[in-house]
Amino acid sequence: MRFEKRILLSTPTMHGEEMQYVKEAFDKNWVAPLGFNCDGFENEMAAYLEKNSDNTYHCLALSAGTAALHLAIKLAGVKSGDIVFCSDTTFAATVNPVSYEGAKQVFVDSEFDSWNMDPVALEKAFRKYPDTKVVVLAHLYGSPAKMDEILNICEKHNAVIVEDAAEALSATYKGRQCGTLGNYNVVSFNGNKIITTSGGGMLITADKAVRDKALFLATQAREPAPWYQHEEIGYNYRMSNVVAGIGRGQLIHLEEHRALKEKVYRKYEQGLAGLPLTMNPYLKDTKPNFWLSCVLIDKDCAVKPMDIINKLNDANVEARPIWKPMHMQPVFNKNDFICVGETSVGEEIFKRGLCLPSDIKMTEQEQDIIINIIKSMF
Ligand SMILES: *Cc1c(COP(=O)(O)O)cnc(C)c1O
Repeated sequence: MRFEKRILLSTPTMHGEEMQYVKEAFDKNWVAPLGFNCDGFENEMAAYLEKNSDNTYHCLALSAGTAALHLAIKLAGVKSGDIVFCSDTTFAATVNPVSYEGAKQVFVDSEFDSWNMDPVALEKAFRKYPDTKVVVLAHLYGSPAKMDEILNICEKHNAVIVEDAAEALSATYKGRQCGTLGNYNVVSFNGNKIITTSGGGMLITADKAVRDKALFLATQAREPAPWYQHEEIGYNYRMSNVVAGIGRGQLIHLEEHRALKEKVYRKYEQGLAGLPLTMNPYLKDTKPNFWLSCVLIDKDCAVKPMDIINKLNDANVEARPIWKPMHMQPVFNKNDFICVGETSVGEEIFKRGLCLPSDIKMTEQEQDIIINIIKSMF
């Protein structure tokens, strides 16, 4: 059995409203960076995040989630030579901006309950590096991290959180939206995320002054003077008015995408029940967005992730390994890594886990076939 058309992990799903906003930008001849779609997208995102919340949020639309992370790191006060605690099992984009600022990542191991940063390991990291002031934390695959514990630890140590919610938009922790849980929060609209603008990201903050400063830095750090006056190094990180139109159209469908992602997850959960594997877990009191459905194969099982990935690939289906932990990456081989036990949890999840195709346009029949292929391997 081989699918004629490749089934991919997660691809953009457009609806029609996106094109209307883009068309409006063209009709008004407003395709330059900035403009009404950027304002609209930011305001509509803030309104979305403010639903069921008493807080007010300020959003800044940017060219990428990575750009938003870079500004977040800067605004959090990271300076050259600083230590910054970072999630270990994540995409490199979470932690690279720390290097842009000349600071050093210390990676903090994961736990098995949500696959995110382990608060116990974070405590241990603070014992070793008590002066650390910034923690960069990602919610893996749309499952929220142990935020109360982590927020408590950070408060105790006077540290701030840069929340990388690139994969977690629309997920909630105890009713609070991911993307609003840290001091500086970031989401991504990259092509494979739960909603997409083709490429883009957003910085989210409850502090308007932070948004103002981020806007200043994202637009080349021009001082308010009649001539070009610069007192700081700036960046060209703004989202274009065309791209923001796609985002406005997508945002309308965010909850619908979340529901479809959950449907995919539940079907795997049911279809793969009884096999020596478990789905990517999530904490009680959290509502993941189920961005990617993943499995962790039991410890002593002979079947390895790459066996399943290769077998699915033979059927023209894309599956992928779990993010390879940062402490295992050659580029970070000089960085410290804090883990609680003898062995790394993240390393174990990497060795036994994989991401399954989680595209919301995948049909039930297609998913049934994928489930059967996986079943046939055990
Ligand atoms: C996608 C992603 C990013 C980067 O976002 P871009 O918009 O692609 O720059 C950062 N962190 C995580 C965890 C991601 O999955």
